Amino acid sequence: MLSYRHAFHAGNHADVLKHLIEVQLLRHLMQKDKPFWYIDTHAGAGCYALDRGFAAQNAEYENGISRLWDRDDLPDALADYVSLVKDINPDKQMKLYPGSPLFALHLLREQDRLRLFELHPADSEILQQNFAAEGARVQVQSADGFGALKALLPPPSRRALVLIDPPYEDKQDYRRVISALGEGLKRFANGIYAVWYPQLQRIEAKQLHEQLKRLPVKSWLHVALSVQAPDKSGFGMHGSGMFVFNPPWTLYGILQEVMPYLVRQLAQDAQASFILEKHESNSHSGNPGQ
Ligand code: SAM
Repeated sequence: MLSYRHAFHAGNHADVLKHLIEVQLLRHLMQKDKPFWYIDTHAGAGCYALDRGFAAQNAEYENGISRLWDRDDLPDALADYVSLVKDINPDKQMKLYPGSPLFALHLLREQDRLRLFELHPADSEILQQNFAAEGARVQVQSADGFGALKALLPPPSRRALVLIDPPYEDKQDYRRVISALGEGLKRFANGIYAVWYPQLQRIEAKQLHEQLKRLPVKSWLHVALSVQAPDKSGFGMHGSGMFVFNPPWTLYGILQEVMPYLVRQLAQDAQASFILEKHESNSHSGNPGQ
């Protein structure tokens, strides 16, 4: 049963980290004219009201995007991300927060394509409505994104960003991330894959990185932002992270500048911290075409 609704969490510290990186990856792909696909296996509703409904209940955005909204000292990459959020709020009041597909729609060019998957019937309907006017460039499917990914790879242009952003409420998501990536990399070794994960005190969450680091890929980057110490009772999310497979080489340097700033701005206690690591292998032989 699907109970997760992203609207409760829209604009929180985890969205800030995820969408900051998504924007940087899209900017990188846009440096060449050649078309690319943006594939979002867990797209959510596409856009969220912050001043009413689910997002207003716990107001998680107050510890996320709100803390950056009025800053005039943002590092460039964060300023880019915040200005995209401001673009969808025409009166500059923070009322709406874009989901991952809306950041992509905002940036993608005529030649690029969006392929969006969302399984929750209510969010999938909102997503369809949000993107109804976009024509064939955008395809929204009410379907299992893990299962659908394989058939889309490789995309015709051989260029793509795949965002994999499951809720992890079902423990199977941990296993399915690894198998979807394994299949994806076999078919399309050179794609850029970005995987979000929550920092939780649960064994599957801790094992996930080790499994991700063992995937047969030439290079990866891992970044994580902990906004507070893990809860003593063992519950709750104290931060989140992203693995990017085949990252642009510039991303590490950008995050070296951004992450200390994000820790300072988004810290909820003195234990806030970040991890930034990368791996590059010249000897890996499992990926044809690299
Ligand atoms: N990527 C979105 C963003 O950044 O704005 C947020 C996505 S939210 C973390 C995860 C979404 O995945 C939820 O809306 C949930 O309903 C949906 N979902 C769960 N399992 C799914 C599956 N197997 N395939 C597609 N969507 C799924």
